[in-house]
Amino acid sequence: MASLSTPTIGVLALQGDVREHLVALASADALARPVRRPEELAEIDGLVIPGGESTTMSKLAVAFGMLEPLRERVRAGMPVYGTCAGMIMLADKLLDGREDQETLGGIDMIVRRNAFGRQNESFEATVDVAGIEGGPVEGIFIRAPWVESTGAAAEVIATYDGHTVAVRQGNVLATSFHPELTGDHRVHALFVDMVRAAQ
Ligand code: GLN
Repeated sequence: MASLSTPTIGVLALQGDVREHLVALASADALARPVRRPEELAEIDGLVIPGGESTTMSKLAVAFGMLEPLRERVRAGMPVYGTCAGMIMLADKLLDGREDQETLGGIDMIVRRNAFGRQNESFEATVDVAGIEGGPVEGIFIRAPWVESTGAAAEVIATYDGHTVAVRQGNVLATSFHPELTGDHRVHALFVDMVRAAQ
């Protein structure tokens, strides 16, 4: 593990926009590396679960023997940040998932997959995120989920059009949208701070 000031943060590299997250994390002063195998989980202080396709990610997590090791680390308090498909992976409960689709859980929330519509209904919108200074962030929503409801432990930190689109519960953070695609790394910086604080 790295020093206190420079945490090592993995990006789950089974599927999805891994590279963009590696770049965003590096810009936010973390040592970033892709993670595919259970052994690699021991070497990281925090984890990002990228956007992509959650049904595929779920399948590959099972195939690579990552599902239980990931669940264990999340349960043990490792900081995790999920974007879009990654948010779906962090939901304790999922609506409109595939029948055999697994999530890791981590946030007491019910997430509805593809809630904002299909690929051609993808959009950008400015979103105010509690805890992020300097004005709203540009939210890119691509076949994005929303959070249908949250339990007492989960804090809603952003809404768009009346729907919850960002949630934090302890060391676990999730957004419906993709800050890794914008060049604005403030959400990643917030996560890197969370990882530092947990060390
Ligand atoms: N709709 C995708 C899913 O179900 C998520 C899309 C995304 O990550 N941009 O996983």
